[in-house]
Amino acid sequence: MAAPSEFELIKQYFSALTPSRDDVLLGIGDDCALLQAPKGKAIAVSIDTLVSGKHFFDNTTVYDLGHKCLAVGLSDLAAMGATPAWFTLALTLPNVDVEWLQDFSRGLAALAGEHGIQLVGGDTTSGPLSISIQVHGFTDVDKALKRSGAQSGDMIYVTGTLGDAGAALALEQGDAKLAAVLDSADRDYLQQRLDKPSPRVDFGEQLAGLATAAIDISDGLLADLGHILEASGPENSSLGARIDLDRLPLSPALQKLPESQAQQFALAAGDDYELCFTASPAEFGRLQADFTDNCTRIGIVDSKAGIYRIDDKGNLVTITTDKAGYEHFTSS
Ligand code: ADP
Ligand code: MG
Repeated sequence: MAAPSEFELIKQYFSALTPSRDDVLLGIGDDCALLQAPKGKAIAVSIDTLVSGKHFFDNTTVYDLGHKCLAVGLSDLAAMGATPAWFTLALTLPNVDVEWLQDFSRGLAALAGEHGIQLVGGDTTSGPLSISIQVHGFTDVDKALKRSGAQSGDMIYVTGTLGDAGAALALEQGDAKLAAVLDSADRDYLQQRLDKPSPRVDFGEQLAGLATAAIDISDGLLADLGHILEASGPENSSLGARIDLDRLPLSPALQKLPESQAQQFALAAGDDYELCFTASPAEFGRLQADFTDNCTRIGIVDSKAGIYRIDDKGNLVTITTDKAGYEHFTSS
């Protein structure tokens, strides 16, 4: 059990870690922070908790852990089209380990610096290792990217590549077959995708006011696209989607796997922190090329509920997945 004086040290330790912003009237050190929101903007708020042994394991470096805790929050802001501003940090630590704190805070500070987000307060307690970060960002009320605006006929897009984090997790869990087809550079790449996701903040800001709906892919494409379709449907029903499986964007590492296994990772595995969004092709055309180059149209929104692919005979086939076995698709 750490002495309170050590926790006092932690507060000091975190007080000058991140960029100092003009809109922070009072930062770490008082009972509350005082923050000045820009006139006319809404504040987007989101919190996530990462628990040791559940959301991360011993093989994640402490530096990467600092990065990831903030990255998941920034990804939520990105999915809303919001601009990052401030965050708070609740740390539950089994003991005060200076080396741990240094590595963790470095990882956190590097990503915070990249996105100009300031740590303005938090809480420190002792107990089993757990980290909560609440992020705050700014958005125009009428441009925020909700899950609920998709319309039948909109195109469905995703950023980056899908399934990498899921493949890394399978490797961590000892999937020998998977390890056998990948070389060490592939494995390192996948591990980085799991441990150090790059939140698509710039992309989200570009999409604000342009996409009809958006979500970040934390639980897998099917689940997260499903949330958009559900939120966007008329009352008590859901919209649907037709997905072209051949268009799922796969990294060079995933392209080395049997196609159906790679597609399973892309469809069902979480932790990618890419964005999935819907937009009319005309609106999408307004995006700058350096953004469109990094995203892929994977399908179209449909009024018929369910997520389908079109088979060789032109029939709609429900896409289902088996998370555990990376198994096949079944028709319905
Ligand atoms: P209180 O008892 O009033 O809640 P605390 O002792 O918990 O105050 O915290 C004192 C100050 O240090 C507050 O401004 C709080 O926001 C900040 N703080 C505490 N823990 C952290 C942390 N892990 N990261 C950033 N700021 C922290
Ligand atoms: Mg407190």
